[in-house]
Amino acid sequence: MKTRRTIVETQPLDILKSVFGYDRFREPQSEVIGHLLAGGDALVLMPTGGGKSLCYQIPALLRAGVGIVISPLIALMQDQVSALTQLGIRAAFLNSTLSLDDVRRIEQHLLNGELDLLYIAPERLTTERTLALLARIEIALFAIDEAHCVSQWGHDFRADYLQLSLLHERFPAIPRIALTATADAKTREEIIRRLGLGEARMFQRGFDRPNIRYRIVQKQNARKQLLDFIRGEHDGDAGIVYCLSRKKVEETADWLQAQGLNALPYHAGMNAAERQRHQHRFLMEEGLIIVATIAFGMGIDKPNVRFVAHLDLPKSVEAYYQETGRAGRDGQPADAWMAYGLQDVIMLRRMLAESNADDAHKRLELHKLDAMLALCEQVHCRRQALLAYFGDRLEQPCGNCDTCLEPVKTWDGTLAAQQALSCIFRTGQRFGVGHLIDVLLGKTTDKVQKNGHDKVSTFGIGKHLQEQQWHSLYRQLIARGLIAVDFESMGTLKLTEASRPVLRGEETLMLREDIKPEKTKRAAAKA
Ligand code: ADP
Ligand code: ZN
Repeated sequence: MKTRRTIVETQPLDILKSVFGYDRFREPQSEVIGHLLAGGDALVLMPTGGGKSLCYQIPALLRAGVGIVISPLIALMQDQVSALTQLGIRAAFLNSTLSLDDVRRIEQHLLNGELDLLYIAPERLTTERTLALLARIEIALFAIDEAHCVSQWGHDFRADYLQLSLLHERFPAIPRIALTATADAKTREEIIRRLGLGEARMFQRGFDRPNIRYRIVQKQNARKQLLDFIRGEHDGDAGIVYCLSRKKVEETADWLQAQGLNALPYHAGMNAAERQRHQHRFLMEEGLIIVATIAFGMGIDKPNVRFVAHLDLPKSVEAYYQETGRAGRDGQPADAWMAYGLQDVIMLRRMLAESNADDAHKRLELHKLDAMLALCEQVHCRRQALLAYFGDRLEQPCGNCDTCLEPVKTWDGTLAAQQALSCIFRTGQRFGVGHLIDVLLGKTTDKVQKNGHDKVSTFGIGKHLQEQQWHSLYRQLIARGLIAVDFESMGTLKLTEASRPVLRGEETLMLREDIKPEKTKRAAAKA
């Protein structure tokens, strides 16, 4: 029998308020917590940012013993532990970054019953040394975070996760909770089977946010487009505008202010007091716009945010979903609006190429970015695509996204794509988009002449399209992986394996028609 601490008289809601500083539970936190406190096992499927952590953190505080959290990401572990420590919770982690001395110290804390939560990597948990240690201490629960890592269907499969079935065998009396944001049936079924969660109760919160209208527009003059969007549809509303860099945050906030809007910047480079003040004003005042980097938003729970706008592309669908999800928490209509263009794709690919993450990590990030791009280039219901990414099915097109409200026109871009690809090839795969388009349009710029590109066979063959249409085409080809961007040589474009079937005419390419056929002002002015 477990010995119970006096704290057990405290209610989950008291802990939520006094320790975490929140007023109310989100669906289905309260039910999950109750179920674990009663000793049951749980499988929790909730979107990223939905609040999964509290589902095990609060029961770990309320039950006697330490809560053991299995987490695959070392960086995340450290963040969580430092956040918990700041809240006064006794938390620690065990992973390969620690010295032997640190490990001994933490093990001693465990034996003394001085920890509320211990985060541990799966490969470490399943060693005999750790299991022997766990057998000697009182355990409140096992939480298996990112439980989809046990699934071979997914992209995040971790062989170490397969060993976690032994928790059930060795510690049958301890409640277990598995958590994930991946909700498709195959993954779910595999989690249950491999972790021996046949008896577990499943808690799921749907991913759909029907009151949010998703819109992704092509970038032309993004600031102006943003201003038109806010003035036209959200005059006097509270909203968040996300930008990638601190500099752009500052500039955009200044500019919006100069246009007479009530906008404030927020980013990690500002001093803490000012940041705090801006966040506070956003929460307290009506109709304030926060222009922010992604540093803003963690734990922000303002119900009447009417719009979230992105001036830069998020790095993943998860990030997009989480950031846009800050709109319309009150259930009233809200907008998720984004302006996106070729430069976004190039910039994010470059940041990824230049980051010093290891190759496996880069591949994963690249895969995530590709999924985000596919969402941007989506020609069918955006909500269906978004939900499908999380394994959630929406039977019918939603009727509340841009592609539903204004169906995207497509055109057969096969021939133009062949011209665009062959122009890359003919000029030696050494040039960026701007120059390639000059060649296609037959412009005799200095660069064209210096390189003799007025002599190549693709010179001037692209006059049937306007400059902007070529931009749109190159963007879509890059987004689809038919062209690679080489960052070691200043963003030059290169062909890929995937280019070949298109060049050989084996593949038909239906592309988005972004640019209206009538001449744009710029093209008209030049003509
Ligand atoms: P997940 O693990 O599902 O991605 P987290 O547990 O990290 O999500 O929670 C996301 C954010 O929501 C965190 O900033 C967290 O503090 C906040 N949060 C969680 N539950 C609540 C709640 N009941 N009220 C307000 N904020 C909450
Ligand atoms: Zn739709």
